[in-house]
Amino acid sequence: MKSAEQAAERTSPSELKTSAVRSYCRGTVPLTAKLEPWITNFCHGTALPALVQKYGSPLNLLNTEPFQRNVTALYDIAQSRDLDFDVYFARKANKCLAFVETAKTLGCGVDTASLEELQQVLQSQVPAEKIICTAAIKSEELLRLCIVSGTTIAIDNLDELMQTAILAGELNQRAAVAIRLSGFQHQGTKLPSRFGFDIEEIVPLLQDLQSESCNSLQHLNLSGIHFHLDGYSQVQRISAIQQLLPLIDELRAREFPIRFLDIGGGFPMCYLESKTEWETFWQTQRRALLGEHIPLTYRNHGLGLASVEGTLTGKPNCYPYYQNLVQADWFGEILSSASEAGTIADSLRTRNIQLRCEPGRSILDGCGFTVARVEFRKLQTNGDWLIGVSMNRTQCRTSSDDFLIDPLLIPILERSPLPRTPAGISGYLVGAYCTESELLSLRKLLFPHGVAIGDFIVFPNTAGYFMHFLESRSHQFPLARNVIFDAETNQCECDAIDA
Ligand SMILES: *Cc1c(COP(=O)(O)O)cnc(C)c1O
Repeated sequence: MKSAEQAAERTSPSELKTSAVRSYCRGTVPLTAKLEPWITNFCHGTALPALVQKYGSPLNLLNTEPFQRNVTALYDIAQSRDLDFDVYFARKANKCLAFVETAKTLGCGVDTASLEELQQVLQSQVPAEKIICTAAIKSEELLRLCIVSGTTIAIDNLDELMQTAILAGELNQRAAVAIRLSGFQHQGTKLPSRFGFDIEEIVPLLQDLQSESCNSLQHLNLSGIHFHLDGYSQVQRISAIQQLLPLIDELRAREFPIRFLDIGGGFPMCYLESKTEWETFWQTQRRALLGEHIPLTYRNHGLGLASVEGTLTGKPNCYPYYQNLVQADWFGEILSSASEAGTIADSLRTRNIQLRCEPGRSILDGCGFTVARVEFRKLQTNGDWLIGVSMNRTQCRTSSDDFLIDPLLIPILERSPLPRTPAGISGYLVGAYCTESELLSLRKLLFPHGVAIGDFIVFPNTAGYFMHFLESRSHQFPLARNVIFDAETNQCECDAIDA
């Protein structure tokens, strides 16, 4: 057997730091978080208490350096295939203006999903040709601003198309338009979507509009084709692109000046260190739901699965927190996949068409964490502890059932007003909304060194969606502040969105 010293010798100081940071809290079946060095440093250092004191709990801490790295990796892949390519950052995934500024500096674009998002991006002086609006609902005011500013509008339906045409006519301007498409054939079935025109109906529709005596399309510059698929399937996106290539040819043949193909977002990312942990978690969760293992979740919550007469139904309603092929590598494989006489990259290059994408979550990988203060510990009669934390569940949530990443616990440095709990307790993190279901994580957590009032709970890697997508102000709680950490100057400053 190896001695502890021998083992320690081969462990680098940063690895030691990371394992120390992780040692205070883990799931009863662990899901160990991937940690960026800057996040580990914050958790290991002494700066957090003063920041939470100053800005309140919970607090979102953000860093734009990983964003730059993630965006650059996408451009590098496209450049290696000699493609005309642009990234449009889907800013609905995080509201901070620091990322808009960073996108502008990098020269990449921004995808906006509301009037307010667009107004802010325009105010930040992002050039209009680097902005697209994909809002699900577009008011007349939003359409007008798109047209006047020169922002490309991703058109979802015929009403939107006609309204844009009328407004552009009134304004005597040409609207930059991309047609959003859906209904792609994939492995023998049609992919359903609430968004976009059906791929089979678009050509006759545009032909009709083009041939009308008044030519409704004369004020539209139909320069792009757009799609955004639900989920993270690589093969579905390959199918969609393959079906759009001939469509682009056909539209061009009919004098529509298609310049770009926008493949939307949904680029996968990975939050966890270990594939084995991820598989073990779900195997154990299934056994727990069948009554073959003690529950891993609050009141044996199914996380999308349910046991019906001894068999499991449903599917996990959670982000795939562990994924193998992600981000730029995943994107590179799409470009390399077979198409016509070569690869998809070849097909795009020979057509002289620009490829665009709109990742949100995956380019925010590593860009932030959420920290909140422990206010109470309570032992329940069933032996589970409830750890009361100053935040609510909308401050670390997406539409997914749960946050399947082990939070971190940072022990308080000063004396706590009351003693720590015993070591080795387990239980659940509960939040500030006054409902029985207000859990910050449904997973049962283990605290090997106990919990004290004033300890901090850190939710790692929350910049993509978790911070802002569902945050609400119920009970009149203020929204969490967003503080940007500048690694170069070592300074922290409130993001302009909170001004
Ligand atoms: C949400 C959204 C995106 C971003 O999706 P991610 O999963 O965050 O990459 C891109 N485009 C459109 C149209 C969207 O609605």
